[in-house]
Amino acid sequence: MHHFHYRNGRLHCEDVSLDAIADAVGTPVYVYSSATLRRHARVIAEAFDGMDCLIAYSVKANGNLGVLKTLAAEGCGADVVSGGELQRALVAGIPASRIVFSGVGKTRAEMRLALREDIHQFNIESAAEAEVLSEVACNMGKVARIAVRVNPDVAAGGHPNISTGKAGDKFGVPWKEAEALYARIAELDGLSAVGVDVHIGSQIDAITPMQDAFLRVVTLVRRLREQGHEITRMDLGGGLGIPYRAEDNPPPPAEYANMIREVTEGLGVEVILEPGRVIAGNAGVMITEALYTKPSPQRNFLIIDAGMNDLMRPALYQAHHDILPLRERPDSEDRISYDVVGPICESTDKFAAERKLPAIAPGDRLAFMSAGAYGAVLSSQYNARPLVAEVLVDGDKYAVVRRRPAFEEMIALETTPDWLS
Ligand SMILES: *Cc1c(COP(=O)(O)O)cnc(C)c1O
Repeated sequence: MHHFHYRNGRLHCEDVSLDAIADAVGTPVYVYSSATLRRHARVIAEAFDGMDCLIAYSVKANGNLGVLKTLAAEGCGADVVSGGELQRALVAGIPASRIVFSGVGKTRAEMRLALREDIHQFNIESAAEAEVLSEVACNMGKVARIAVRVNPDVAAGGHPNISTGKAGDKFGVPWKEAEALYARIAELDGLSAVGVDVHIGSQIDAITPMQDAFLRVVTLVRRLREQGHEITRMDLGGGLGIPYRAEDNPPPPAEYANMIREVTEGLGVEVILEPGRVIAGNAGVMITEALYTKPSPQRNFLIIDAGMNDLMRPALYQAHHDILPLRERPDSEDRISYDVVGPICESTDKFAAERKLPAIAPGDRLAFMSAGAYGAVLSSQYNARPLVAEVLVDGDKYAVVRRRPAFEEMIALETTPDWLS
C-alpha cells in the first residue's frame, strides 16, 4: 500500500506532482510519503493491538529526521545500530525508554552514550561484548538491560547478503552457546539479562522461517527461566518483506502478528519488533532524469542522472525496482528493452537489465519505486557527486528534508597539509 499514483497523467506523491518537486529541487531526489509512513506504522500497531509490544522502527532503513519525526508522532520507538543513529532517534524526539541498540560492533563510547541516556535495551552479540558492556556500565555506576541476540540457524531473507540467522553468519551467538553465555552474564556486574533477541534476515517473504526461529526462542526463554534468569522480553527483530514487484506476495502484517501472538501466547513477555523496510520501503521513490540513450548492437543503454552512489540496492543486492515514467504512457504504446545505467565509472552502476519501458527520451523523468528503505541512507558522494536530496510530502505540502550540498560543503571537511599549501 502506498500513496504514489497517476493523476491527470502525472505521477503524484499524495497530492503533490513529482514533476513539480523535480522542477523545484532538481534530480536525483528521493520523495517520501508521510501518509504511507503513518499508514504502515498504524497497520503494524493495530496488528499487535492488545499485546505488550514495543515497535522499534529500524533507523538504518531510513534515518532521515523528517521520517523519524513522522514515526515518533505515531508512537514508534527505534532500533539503532550506532551512536549516530541513537542520536538521530533522540533528536527526532523518540524517548530513550523506547530505544533498543543492536549491532555486532558497539564501541565503548557508544555504550557510554546509550547508558547515559538509559535506553530500553542493549542487544548484545558476543561474550566479549558483554564483558566490555559490563565494565563500561560498572564504571558509570549503571546497570545495562540486555538481551542476547541468538543465531537460531534458520535460513531466511530475500538475498544471501541479507540473511543473518544462519549458522556461519556473523550475527548473534550460536544457538548452542546461548545458555552458557546467560550463565556467564549472570556473574557479571552492571548487566541485567532481561530478554532474548533474534533477527534472522531481511525481505523475508514467508512466515515459516520466522515462526521456526521464534519457536526456538520461546524454548530458550523457558529454559533460561528454569535456570533462574528473569526473562521478561522477547525481541523478534525485523525482516518482514515488501512487494517490490506486482507479483510479490509477502505475508501481510496481520498474518505475521497472529503468528507472533500464537507463538508467545501465555509466555508473559514484552514483545519487541524492529520493522524497517516494511514501514519505509514503499513510502519512498527516487526521481531521476534520462540523460542519453545509447543503442549498441548488444545492449540498448538508457543513461540516467542517478548513480549507484544514490541508490545502491541494485548493485549491492541485485535488487529490483519498478521504474515508472512521471508522465503516464498509454498501455498501448510499444515497450522497448533498456539497460538502465548511471553515470558512475563502475560496471556495477546498473539499475536494470533488459527492462521493458516505453520509449524514453533525454529529459524524461522516471521514478524508481519502493526506494524508501536502504535508499538514501546508503548514498555516498562517490565520483564527487553531491549527496542526493530528500523531500517529504504530507498531503498537498512538501519540504526538502535533506538538501543537496554545495560543492564547497562537500570539500569543507578536507584540509590541505602545510607541505602542499
Ligand atoms: C536491519 C535490521 C532490522 C530491520 O530489518 P528490515 O528488514 O528493514 O525490517 C531490524 N533489526 C536488526 C538487528 C537489523 O539489523
